[in-house]
Amino acid sequence: MKELTIEKTKEILDSFGIKKAPVPVEYIVAQYGINISYAPSKEYSGVLIRKSDGGVLMGVNSDERQSRIRFTIAHELAHFIFDTDQTVTVDYRNKTSLTDKPQKEKRADLFAANFLMPEEFLVEDFKREVKDALYVNGESLKKLAEQYQVSKEAMMYRLKNLNLVPTVKEEIPF
Ligand SMILES: [Zn+2]
Repeated sequence: MKELTIEKTKEILDSFGIKKAPVPVEYIVAQYGINISYAPSKEYSGVLIRKSDGGVLMGVNSDERQSRIRFTIAHELAHFIFDTDQTVTVDYRNKTSLTDKPQKEKRADLFAANFLMPEEFLVEDFKREVKDALYVNGESLKKLAEQYQVSKEAMMYRLKNLNLVPTVKEEIPF
C-alpha cells in the first residue's frame, strides 16, 4: 500500500507538470472538480463529502495555519482518491496519536507528505540548502518549510523519513 500511495502522488504531480515546490494543492484539487469551502471550526480540520448528484465538496478549517490547511487539503484529496466507498469523511482536530490511526488515515497522511514534499524535489533542495547533512539548523529548516509551504514539524518529519537527517532528538532545533 505504501508504494502504491507514493506512486500515485508522483503520477498526479507528473500529470500536472509540477516540477518544483510549492505544490499548488488548491489548483490541483480544483482540477478534480472538487469545490473547497473554507470556514472556521473548533471541531474539524477537514471534511470530504460526496454528494448524491456526483459533486464533491471539501470543507477546510480556515482557523488553522496556512501550512496546516495545505496539509489538510492534500489529506482530503487522498480520501477522495482512495476511499471511494465513503460518502462522508471527517477529520477532527484532536487526532489520536500516529500509532492509533486507522489505515485510511495513515495512507492519507502518507499521501499528503509525499504530495507536498515529493522526494524528487526535496532531496535536491535539501542538498542545495544543507551542506552538512548531519545537522539541519533552524534557519535551513525554516527556509525549506517556507519553500514547500508546510510546517517546520512536517518538514522535519519528512526529512527524517527520507533519511536525510538522523533521528536524534537533540539535533532538532525548533
Ligand atoms: Zn483523514
